[in-house]
Amino acid sequence: MAYQGNFPIEAKLKTFLALDPALFIDGRRIAGDASARLPVYDPATGLELTQIIDADASDVDRAVRSAHAAFEDGRWRNLRPTDRERILLRLAELIDENAEALAQLETLDQGKSIHMSRIFASGASAQWTRYIAGLTTKITGRTMELSLPPSPANWTAYTRREPIGVVAGIAPWNFPMMIALWKVIPALAAGCSIVLKPSEVTPLAGLWLAELATEAGIPDGVFNVVTGVGSVSGSALVSHPLVRKITFTGSTATGKAIGRVAMDNLVPVSLELGGKNPALVLKDVDVEAVASGLVIAGFFNQGQVCAAASRLYVEAPVYDAVVGALEAAIKGMSIGAGLDPTTQVNPLVSKAHQDKVSRYVADARAKGADILEGVAAPDSEGYYVSPSLILNPSNDMDLARQEVFGPVVNVTKIDSVEEGIALANDIELGLTASVWTQNLSQAMNITRCLDAGTVWVNSHNFIDPNMPFGGMKQSGLGRDFGVDWLDAFTEVKSVCISH
Ligand code: NDP
Repeated sequence: MAYQGNFPIEAKLKTFLALDPALFIDGRRIAGDASARLPVYDPATGLELTQIIDADASDVDRAVRSAHAAFEDGRWRNLRPTDRERILLRLAELIDENAEALAQLETLDQGKSIHMSRIFASGASAQWTRYIAGLTTKITGRTMELSLPPSPANWTAYTRREPIGVVAGIAPWNFPMMIALWKVIPALAAGCSIVLKPSEVTPLAGLWLAELATEAGIPDGVFNVVTGVGSVSGSALVSHPLVRKITFTGSTATGKAIGRVAMDNLVPVSLELGGKNPALVLKDVDVEAVASGLVIAGFFNQGQVCAAASRLYVEAPVYDAVVGALEAAIKGMSIGAGLDPTTQVNPLVSKAHQDKVSRYVADARAKGADILEGVAAPDSEGYYVSPSLILNPSNDMDLARQEVFGPVVNVTKIDSVEEGIALANDIELGLTASVWTQNLSQAMNITRCLDAGTVWVNSHNFIDPNMPFGGMKQSGLGRDFGVDWLDAFTEVKSVCISH
């Protein structure tokens, strides 16, 4: 398969796309047992980019057994932490060395703007890898005084944190490279081995990452990738009896199904799930400045961001001005392929997702929604959807309360801050929220009232490796990032010595 698009791409990316479909098991690309193949499309054109293997349970079994063998013989977990750190830092360097090809791959596979791919799929990905690599040498237990020792002296008790074993990592399609890294690198830093299952619509970054990891020095079998559909290869992976930990990012519905499997097998599970995130805009704001922040909050990556601000609650005195500024912004954007550096609005990830987002807007329109549309979608085979604002949606519209995960932002006029807080919390999801105001004291009080794992003031969507991230309510279980990140990939062992 040869790349057929109109934009120049790196030679090594062309070569990668032309490779035969493969899984990545035991340190190399292999054809596996499954004969079925799945196409991977360029969202900007709808043309086939390449194909992947539609892995079956036998392929998954082979990958998990490879990871298990690597874990059991200690080829990775018994390395000195500084050696694991050095290899992960080398991986970060390789991400830097391949930065442009990785960014182009992200855009071709997922659709987002090349500027954003350069920031997230290569730049930030290398930096996150470095941050996590640093945790490799910071794994600690505790010593403790026994509270009820059988005799007063001669007891020493402490805890060790030991790598948990084979990790199943399941990643979504919105940031294929970065979220794959968030599954893989903490597992490796803790000394685990991992099998990654990327989304079937954006499987390529994970495969490339595995090759770079091997080049960096990760031993064979420690990091494996199976492709294919979630209901087959994903399901076989999370339910495999040799898996000791599941780390999942994706929708709430799939997360709950995986959580049930985890409980059946008594395997710890981290779930980073969906959001329908509010932003409260108070009447004292500088409208122009806030509007430009809200455009990024709501429409960055075409709204395909779990943390995106998709429900704006704006105090009445500034409501018209904020809506006007947002409308002007989305009408003034240019739309086109992510590889075209002049564009700000790009295609959605897949035809199926384009249809899903369009259905939400059509449902709202049929129910009488007041819709302000931005730049029109081009007449193209690409998966474009015009960005839009839905003014004061009513609760009978599906998009009022469900996660659309597209370029669709609800804007609701509120008469008081208390009303805004109540509306913001009146939902089963609780991933992120933001408050926009110049009154810092009021902002700090509001942050305490919002049901969300992350609350920003005068910004939104800003994440940092050192700041824990995860959801409340139906938005997830557990926290990624931060100095305690590796805890989820370790078991605590208490050691008690009588001497
Ligand atoms: P899905 O839940 O549909 O899929 C996520 C992953 O799970 C994919 O790799 C999918 O494979 C796989 N999968 C599907 N079914 C199963 C199964 N039965 N067993 C195991 N794996 C399965 O989510 P999307 O890919 O559509 O991603 C979008 C969602 O992710 C949104 O809800 C978004 O909010 C959320 N998200 C949350 C983040 C957070 O940090 N909280 C960050 C980013 C996204 P396949 O695609 O091949 O079917």
